[in-house]
Amino acid sequence: MQRGKLLIIGFGPGSEQHMTFRAKEAILESDSIIGYSTYVDLIRPLITDQEIVRTGMTEEVSRAQEAVRQAELGKTVAVISSGDSGVYGMAGLVYEVLIEKEWREESGVEVEIIPGISAINSCGSLLGAPIMHDACTISLSDHLTPWDLIKKRVDAAAQADFVIALYNPRSGKRTKQIVETQKILLNYRSPNTPVGLVKSAYREREHIVITDLAHMLDHEIGMLTTVIIGNNSTFIYDGKMITPRGYQRKYTLSESEQQLKPHERLKEKAEPWALHGGVEEEKTVTDRLLNPRMLAEEALQKLNIETRTSEKTTSQSDLFQQEDIFEFAVSPGIANKKLTPIQMMTLAETVGEKADLEYTPDHVIKVSVKTATPHKITERLSSVGLLLLPIGDVVNIKACDFCDGDKGDSIPQVEELQQRIGGVAVPKQMNIGFNGCGMACYGAPTNDIGIIYRKKGFDLFLGAKTTGRNAHVGQLVAEEVAPDKIVDLVVRVVNDYKSRGLPNERFHKFFKRVQDVEGFTYREVPEQVVVDMVCGD
Ligand code: SAH
Repeated sequence: MQRGKLLIIGFGPGSEQHMTFRAKEAILESDSIIGYSTYVDLIRPLITDQEIVRTGMTEEVSRAQEAVRQAELGKTVAVISSGDSGVYGMAGLVYEVLIEKEWREESGVEVEIIPGISAINSCGSLLGAPIMHDACTISLSDHLTPWDLIKKRVDAAAQADFVIALYNPRSGKRTKQIVETQKILLNYRSPNTPVGLVKSAYREREHIVITDLAHMLDHEIGMLTTVIIGNNSTFIYDGKMITPRGYQRKYTLSESEQQLKPHERLKEKAEPWALHGGVEEEKTVTDRLLNPRMLAEEALQKLNIETRTSEKTTSQSDLFQQEDIFEFAVSPGIANKKLTPIQMMTLAETVGEKADLEYTPDHVIKVSVKTATPHKITERLSSVGLLLLPIGDVVNIKACDFCDGDKGDSIPQVEELQQRIGGVAVPKQMNIGFNGCGMACYGAPTNDIGIIYRKKGFDLFLGAKTTGRNAHVGQLVAEEVAPDKIVDLVVRVVNDYKSRGLPNERFHKFFKRVQDVEGFTYREVPEQVVVDMVCGD
């Protein structure tokens, strides 16, 4: 008897042009074709006299068993999957059925896996160039995978800044998974992160939407959609979603002559960000990325380097090697205002006698210390519960003490705010004042953004001018904002400032210039009374 053959074919997104030559040839070679009905319809133009075994969507196991049975009878059997048969397709299952029967390549039926263009590639191509960098696929279908595991994968991918392609994002019955996924992603990525939704790529009802993380759920997402979430550098240009590969870090893309000559390009000083010599001092890159404290520490280091680079013209590689001035701020917490003696002693011991310590009006101690190992300092200080913050043009969240915790209902919101935007870079230093009751004794409205918790909702003030003789409080733009809305709202305001603010433009000037921030319209401040008063009068 002739030895049977299993051809496990990925036929790509759906159109014949996007099918490989071998896939077409294999379909023509086969005696029978086994697949989900919709897929059989998609390859219909290629079917001649092959026998067709159609099955429903959920009958993968019987489909695989039938394929193996027919091949064992000596037939050439095509098992078809959309995209690639090895990506949530039939390839693995066919092998598993064969293994149950103790199949061996040598003696058993022949197996050929024919690769196809998977949805991450076909959908990516329709969106522009969103994949380009490290990416992963996650299927949101929890029919065969525990939801807790899927959540963990989404969380890890979001943390590690992967571009993510979500397969099986939503079906008639599975509607909550994509909502939960969006929430997890928002813990790590800006609401403005570009998101592409592609339905039926290269098929008749193809539909493409480019949106962002905050608004992705306002659009139709179904079983035929692939959702592509950008990473931190993905941007939208002329309706296309693009993830930079990093060339602009090294090359000037608008120039035809490059400063770096070809022989210099792989030298250490041309790539100060790379892992030179092969081993890092103590922690691996993965360790750092997966540990939020280390992430903060990296941000601190980076910030320090950036500030200093703008001050001096020292070369970047020098900055990475020599002892450097490390500047950061430290506080006992966002709501907590009490430093313990242990924290004070640890701070003094860790930074040493020569460090400069300054207590600032922003409820933090600013530290400036010369060191070659800043991570040792941050690690030690974090271990006694001190909060470390970058300084410079970043978001600085200043909360009250919530009456020593007695009026602590809104602490979760300020903590979430700190986690999401505390320390992020903005055009000019931005203070967000957050007070836990209407007394507002820490003066929330006198900050760039002021938030006061009152009557189970939040009042929001924007655009105070915090210094100068014409200082004024911010404009009251919203009252009684619900607790589950306030953090998102403030994050959106900050992101708008981040993206439209000019370098060094203070928030109140920005508000005046653009006139509208997140739907809040700027109002002219009433003229101030001129008081010519000698101090103490
Ligand atoms: N083997 C397939 C994936 C099967 S899982 C592949 O490699 O592409 C089914 C999921 O794939 C769908 O829910 C959708 O998210 C995605 N998908 C498959 N084909 C698609 C297409 N033409 N357009 C958009 N998404 C597609």
